[in-house]
Amino acid sequence: MQEQTRRVGKHRKFHPSQAAKGRVAFVAVATGAVSTAGAGGAVAAQAQTQATAESAVDVDYKLTANEVDSAFVGGSSAPQILAIAEFKPVVNLGEQITKTIQYNAERIQADLDNRGPSVVKPAEGAFTSGFGPRWGTVHQGIDIANAVGTPILSVMDGVVIDSGPASGYGNWIRIQHTDGSVSVYGHMETLDVSVGQTVRAGEKIAGMGNRGFSTGSHLHFEIHPAGSGPVDPQPWLAERGITL
Ligand SMILES: [Zn+2]
Repeated sequence: MQEQTRRVGKHRKFHPSQAAKGRVAFVAVATGAVSTAGAGGAVAAQAQTQATAESAVDVDYKLTANEVDSAFVGGSSAPQILAIAEFKPVVNLGEQITKTIQYNAERIQADLDNRGPSVVKPAEGAFTSGFGPRWGTVHQGIDIANAVGTPILSVMDGVVIDSGPASGYGNWIRIQHTDGSVSVYGHMETLDVSVGQTVRAGEKIAGMGNRGFSTGSHLHFEIHPAGSGPVDPQPWLAERGITL
């Protein structure tokens, strides 16, 4: 079969190649410029040229008639453009995005709300003293030793009910949790929260210190379940998956 060629553009050179075919398909997809099924080959070719010009792509190429035909779905008599989904302008895009963001935020919050009470370790460090009788009195919590400034974390979600100096504790923070329990943190060097503030489990509330009745930088931690005095924090934490 004798090869027929079709020039496109003014200064086109002829480089029959698969790459040229690929470019035709790409331009059609990228611009959606050709969307009328059944358009004549000449019209389609012109549209392709225009699309290329609009894309500021200065590439010379040439297509043989056979190549043009094979780039389309359909016969040579009524060539059709590749099966591309009809171009539909998106309306209210901003509104749709806003709704999607709102939905996602609600979904995340619902997921958080559905989780059980999340409990975290109040501080990293060495477990140096347990709950119970000590030095002729009762040690009402546990001690975790680490460097001054080590982050002290709220063990659960809650509201700060004390944050400041306290006898023996040097500084203390008390947090009331949603289940009615109260956690107590002592000897801190720095305090990051104030009374009335809402905190989340794992939020940094203070920096470890050596204030008050203390013989080295450590956290003194107590847990008071609702309607109860202090209980041993070690099994209380262990029941919630936290080992010291
Ligand atoms: Zn202690």
